[in-house]
Amino acid sequence: MEEDELKNYLKASEVAKKVKPFAMELVKPGAPLLEIAEKVEAKIIEEGARPAFPVNISINENAAHYTPSAADAATLGEKDLVKIDIGIHSSGFVVDFAFSVDCSGENTSLVEASEKALEAALSKMRAGVNVREVGKEIENAIKGRGFVPIRNLCGHLMEEFNLHAGQEIPNHAEGNYILKEGEVYAVEPFATLGEGKVVEGEYCEIFSLIEENKKVRLPHSRKLLEIIDSEFNKLPFAKRWIKDIPPSSLDLALADLLKQGIIRAYPVLREAKRVNVSQAETTVIIEKDGVNVLV
Ligand code: MN
Ligand code: MN
Repeated sequence: MEEDELKNYLKASEVAKKVKPFAMELVKPGAPLLEIAEKVEAKIIEEGARPAFPVNISINENAAHYTPSAADAATLGEKDLVKIDIGIHSSGFVVDFAFSVDCSGENTSLVEASEKALEAALSKMRAGVNVREVGKEIENAIKGRGFVPIRNLCGHLMEEFNLHAGQEIPNHAEGNYILKEGEVYAVEPFATLGEGKVVEGEYCEIFSLIEENKKVRLPHSRKLLEIIDSEFNKLPFAKRWIKDIPPSSLDLALADLLKQGIIRAYPVLREAKRVNVSQAETTVIIEKDGVNVLV
């Protein structure tokens, strides 16, 4: 890894280590979701980094991709199982991490299953190891506790301004790729008692750029593309982050860019049987003899 790249990862890591306990403090019954997301995102900026994607607050059967909209009035419930997923970047180099909070105290073993699976995965990872072996560790740790891993959610290789750079860390024994020194991965086991699969829901507040330098005709689409280019690059953004375009025009611009294949949408992902899901996630740099855990 180049010196400048490492410097940025270490900066994002330093910020992540402050933001994680800050976010944990905010997650309690009665807390408004929008307030949690906005406070965490502001804290990231205050500490000298940038959000790599909107703070995800996915509750119960929702596994990922829920971030509150600007009009979201929901608060956390007494019995909610909450996944907080946070991305922090420094000049495009991302630390991606998540934790689960069990408000009811009734899902202790489910939360433990994803946490122990993450520990097991990290203890196995180093240069030269096949991702299949890592996936097997995750699968065994989760199944050994009586749950199932979510098979269609994976850890992922990250590169500059690229959250999902191709290579995956599966959550079960699958795949065939040898980890290389200097690669950076988010590792994220999900556990459930459901089908072990997520499906797309209706709700969608998160988007990202796919195609750069596209010419568009509608003025609001052009304006939106300029904002995306200058502020987010190819990293995901929330609709509520775009404050310079009036809401009805923003909806039209998003629909226009989606239709042209210039941006993509991230609808909420929920467990297929609508059963509770837990998640644990961290980001690591692959080294010869192990991993450098960034948060
Ligand atoms: Mn994440
Ligand atoms: Mn991730």
